[in-house]
Amino acid sequence: MATPSSASSVSASFPISSLPLPPSSQRLQNLLSPVPSLQPSFTATLTTNPSSQRRSTQFKSGHFSPCTPLPIPFPFRLPSKLNDEGVRVAAMGVEEWLTKMEPLTPSSSTSSSTSSKDVNLKIYSSQGRDWPVLLLAISPACLNEVLPHLNVGDALDLVWKPLPEEGEDEATANAARDELVGVLGGREVVMDLGGDEAEGAKKSGYKPWALRYGGRQFGSWAGQLGDGRAVSLLETLPPGSTQSQEIQIKGAGRTPFSRHADGLAVLRSSIREFLAAENSSAFPSSSLPTSRSLTLCLLPSLPVLRENGPEPGAIVSRIAPSFLRIGSFEVLNPPANEYSFAFGLNGGYEPVKKPEPEWEALRQLAEVVKGKLWGWEGEGKERGVFEMIREVGRRNAKMVAGWQAWGFMHGVINTDNVSVEGLTIDYGPYAYMDVFDPLHICNHSDDTGRYRYSAQPQMVYFAISSLLESLSEMVGYEIAEGKVAPAGWAEGVSEEKLKEWRALGMEKEKELEKEFMEVTAVQYRELMGNRLGLTNPTSSDMSQLVSPLLNLLSTLELDFHSTFRTLALATSSTLSSTSSSSNSDLIDKVLSNAPTCSLNSRTDFGGWLKIYAERLEKEEGGVDATLEKRKAWNPRFVLRQWVLEDIIKKVEEREEGCRERLNKILKMSLSPFESWGREGVESEEGLNEEEKEERRLCGLGEERMLGFQCSCSS
Ligand code: AMP
Ligand code: MG
Repeated sequence: MATPSSASSVSASFPISSLPLPPSSQRLQNLLSPVPSLQPSFTATLTTNPSSQRRSTQFKSGHFSPCTPLPIPFPFRLPSKLNDEGVRVAAMGVEEWLTKMEPLTPSSSTSSSTSSKDVNLKIYSSQGRDWPVLLLAISPACLNEVLPHLNVGDALDLVWKPLPEEGEDEATANAARDELVGVLGGREVVMDLGGDEAEGAKKSGYKPWALRYGGRQFGSWAGQLGDGRAVSLLETLPPGSTQSQEIQIKGAGRTPFSRHADGLAVLRSSIREFLAAENSSAFPSSSLPTSRSLTLCLLPSLPVLRENGPEPGAIVSRIAPSFLRIGSFEVLNPPANEYSFAFGLNGGYEPVKKPEPEWEALRQLAEVVKGKLWGWEGEGKERGVFEMIREVGRRNAKMVAGWQAWGFMHGVINTDNVSVEGLTIDYGPYAYMDVFDPLHICNHSDDTGRYRYSAQPQMVYFAISSLLESLSEMVGYEIAEGKVAPAGWAEGVSEEKLKEWRALGMEKEKELEKEFMEVTAVQYRELMGNRLGLTNPTSSDMSQLVSPLLNLLSTLELDFHSTFRTLALATSSTLSSTSSSSNSDLIDKVLSNAPTCSLNSRTDFGGWLKIYAERLEKEEGGVDATLEKRKAWNPRFVLRQWVLEDIIKKVEEREEGCRERLNKILKMSLSPFESWGREGVESEEGLNEEEKEERRLCGLGEERMLGFQCSCSS
């Protein structure tokens, strides 16, 4: 069996409670807190009124709300007792019960040193917080590449060992691992409660938070959404890096943004997100930019209620420089035309007033993106908000070009799922393309095919244009005034003036769209060129090679990735422009997966191969010289729907060896270009069991699973 990467290869040093924080001026937490509206009693202090953290709240303004993780069953189950008449009643009120759950007791093992002067992080817990957490998987690549300073103890080795029996705890405690699992499993909380008693000084403290955002879902404005089940724990600055990283856990219980839902995540959707993010990160040249996953924890005693009954709950910890979304801006200036009428409580349509735009909060958020996230200091600071929008556009254009080139389908490109950083986030009903079908819809709930494969660039652009719309007044101001909007830029300004600025800002739409589509096309050409082994792909390569190949895949119903891999393995002895007989093996191989194959198919594919061979032979060193590059750009292992369903079932059923299997799939996801299962060796004879398994995992799976649509419930 493949050996796990050893913990010692990672220069780990800090447990999670003493990770270095970014300088306070760079923290997202410095943004304004929301002002409560529906709940006048809401205070952002954790020691009072804890239920406000667990109740859905409409905020009138602001960016985030403090909120500690609390992954417990929902609806809440209060402890009960028998009263004098022998009737079972609640033993205490919800407020009292939630107060008991507040993590206010510092854990004894806490180390209290952080490198930041003004923050003193400790681990807090409470009596009620004793649910078991099992570490199912950890990504060594995420640790190495993103959080090399995090001490995870023996976690990297542990996940290759069998899971403890049901009802039992993990053996051999290791302090750093216990801390990691406790915190990333939502049981313990790293914070600074503020108020330094010793010095009598009032400090603001440092607490986990949930972000407020809105979004257009399937094209319609959905109002305020927000992190309904994700809680950001902290931002840390890896030593030697200028880019801070935000650690967030998903499935950690209700937040003020949970609306009607439980704030929890089921195991199956958590496995899907955990693996996909790490798989995307392994594609060359960051061509599938993505948030990262560090750990996947199972909460074996947490039932999560879904349509088909209770399912096991789980928590993914995910990392990104920021989880700000297009919707983070939109919520501050919701689209006006979406607020005309709504179905009211009186059973009819009633006019709805658009919430007041939060002009200052918009400006502040743009500053955070330009300064804190992208380091546009000095001269760069003069770059206005339209420059920021263009940059968000370019980053997302590159991202979606990656999706198209790698056959990745996101499934829910709502504007609250489109990252300001241009990272793939919120992996839900996604899929990697099996049989090539440009019209494929991977999300079972997407009835109209809004987010089908071929529509992805347009849909990501829709999010970018929504961003422009939400910032149009500010863009207009900056054009009209010829300077970057200062604090208070829209204070006391007339409706007329705002309208004028809005119109001026929206004039930029065409320019934005043109650039977005150009960047997408250039990046897509670059990536597809690489996949075919071409150094400087031209537009005629696109029209004469790439498009015809995709047409063939679609008409012959060929599998996208395995066809590309087969082509990638071609050498001058199997692919040649002069000897067409030598191409026949390659034709056989490619067409062996075609459901229907006629003489015409052979002729058509053979014709394409000849043109391809001619083109490759023009590359320096010819066909053979491009072999390694082609292999490095065409995955052998694809995280297909069947692979996901297979491992989900194993882990859900706690099948023997399921944890090792899961980490094996993670390992393959992190090195998808390797020749797993002794690729190229025809016979299975001589392969050991592990290699046979690798080969199985690299296969197409059962036919019924090809193009499998995932439903949204998560
Ligand atoms: P998604 O389409 O998964 O990105 O979710 C859309 C919105 O619903 C986001 O604001 C999520 O935080 C929220 N949401 C989704 N599932 C849940 C859940 N189980 N509990 C609370 N909020 C949720
Ligand atoms: Mg989302």
